[in-house]
Amino acid sequence: MKISATPFQLQFKHPFHLATGVRTHTDIVVVKLEAEGVTGFGEASLPPYLAENTASVMDFLMKLNPRRLDLKGPISQQLAYIDALAPGNTAAKAALDIALHDWTGKSKGISVSEMIGLPSGSKVNSTFTIGISDVSGLEEKLVQAAPFHMIKLKLGSPDDRALIEAFLERCDKPFCVDVNQGWKDKTFAADMADYLAEKGALFIEQPMPVSMHAETMRLRERSPLPLIADESVQRLTDLQKIAECFDGVNIKLMKSTGIAEAHRMVTEARRIGLKVVVGCMAESSCAVAAASHLAPLADWADLDGPLLMRNDPFDGLVFEDGQVVVPGGAGLGVRVGDGAGF
Ligand code: MG
Repeated sequence: MKISATPFQLQFKHPFHLATGVRTHTDIVVVKLEAEGVTGFGEASLPPYLAENTASVMDFLMKLNPRRLDLKGPISQQLAYIDALAPGNTAAKAALDIALHDWTGKSKGISVSEMIGLPSGSKVNSTFTIGISDVSGLEEKLVQAAPFHMIKLKLGSPDDRALIEAFLERCDKPFCVDVNQGWKDKTFAADMADYLAEKGALFIEQPMPVSMHAETMRLRERSPLPLIADESVQRLTDLQKIAECFDGVNIKLMKSTGIAEAHRMVTEARRIGLKVVVGCMAESSCAVAAASHLAPLADWADLDGPLLMRNDPFDGLVFEDGQVVVPGGAGLGVRVGDGAGF
């Protein structure tokens, strides 16, 4: 077996404004697993506000002894070995988990959906994300958002209300908001929750910083809208502690260490009464296809990542009428695009 890794830079079509800053690109590492004539692909996405980067992913992969991976054994056994190599490194672990699922599905001739007991080929509504914009930027993004049935607005700037007003003047689709920890004042956050409920928002994602756990709990007690945890949750073991201050959770493969643990998180979130979003970082069609196989289990899917990129190196993930079509081919159901060179 051979495992190789290639750094790549995903370029945004438009600079992406969030409460945490502006980005023009996101680094990823594409992992390739070759054995028995079958090739599986995985991806680590590395947004700059998180601890991992290209070098840390390469370092983590160096710790891996491919001879310890028994591809004939259950994936859970291989993932347990990978997880024990070092703490953290959730995106690097996700890249390996995704590549293992792709390889195993391809070698058995079944899709990842079928591997986890779901039918292939279903279609799931995805939100379309609009970064913090001025009004002219908003109009352009609403043109791209036209096929989608639900919009996610990024908030967390001093102009939040103006952006909502500008949006509502131009669009009557259901919408939710993602504050990316941007509200640091509890009175302001409570006022915004009332205002957004009045305006018809569906939920508020990560309104306050992760460190403001107690304040988020109080906000939840009086917020008319559900609060969804994103940055406050990484892995399965985090779910119980956030259930006291959030109504739901955004599960992402780059946080959960991949498909297997994300699947267990969906099950556990349901068991303890949390709503589920299956989301993504800035990712190519490789990692988003992986997440799409779990999307039929979610209340909401937030998988538009590849559509925000100008140089997606993978083909085969299709969006139709604002819905992501869960790929039906073997493994993830995507392939390396022409000229990507992986
Ligand atoms: Mg978020």
